[in-house]
Amino acid sequence: MAGGVGQAVSGGVPGVSTATRRAWLPGRCLLCGDPSDRAALCPHCLCDLPFLGPGCRICALPGPAGDAPCGACQLRRPPWRSATAALRYGFPSDTLVRALKYRRRLAAGAALSQAMAWAGPPPPALASPVTPWLVPVPLHWTRELVRGFNQAVELSLQLSRATGWPVLPRALRRVRRTRAQAGLGRWRRRRNLAGAFRWRGPDLAGQAVVLVDDVLTTGATAEACCRALKGAASVDLWVAARALD
Ligand SMILES: [Zn+2]
Ligand SMILES: [Zn+2]
Repeated sequence: MAGGVGQAVSGGVPGVSTATRRAWLPGRCLLCGDPSDRAALCPHCLCDLPFLGPGCRICALPGPAGDAPCGACQLRRPPWRSATAALRYGFPSDTLVRALKYRRRLAAGAALSQAMAWAGPPPPALASPVTPWLVPVPLHWTRELVRGFNQAVELSLQLSRATGWPVLPRALRRVRRTRAQAGLGRWRRRRNLAGAFRWRGPDLAGQAVVLVDDVLTTGATAEACCRALKGAASVDLWVAARALD
């Protein structure tokens, strides 16, 4: 592990951002450059990712494990059944998310989906009697055109390989362009997203849906997606990273 992840992490962002800026060599770990047997991350870096421990099964915030939802979810129950987040959003998961989202580093997507698959699919979806559909949170088409791709679709395609569940990449549409959510409070985020999503896919009746996204922050986007997924038997969230504040 010379130059390994321990060094990269304690050395701070520059080491890793330089590594992620370098062309990724298949067979080499994206974060430390050590041999990784064709996976995006070597076993050491994969283990060193900030995996979220036990927590609330509804909102994925860390806390005591168990069936009871956290206090916030008991006060105001989100419209989805469960949320599973692999990582805490912060270094180095934020580096991987940004590398995927803004620089189209598919290797970063492979690392994130590797972590998501490792943390496991949402347990209720895994126990579902019907095969769940993986539905990526969509971008508006104009944004997807500019960016060239949707990071949630990329994650879904890789998770489909891990689970065997089909991806419906264009079934949920973002029909209205919305302003950036960053800096808006929960209420303004909800207003900003009202009516932004529409279901244009096959009949949802009786279907188990797993909504896939890169980061779960306030849940306003997922809530707006759930409103468009009315009719599905269940919606579970599966995200790469959970923002904790
Ligand atoms: Zn590594
Ligand atoms: Zn909760």
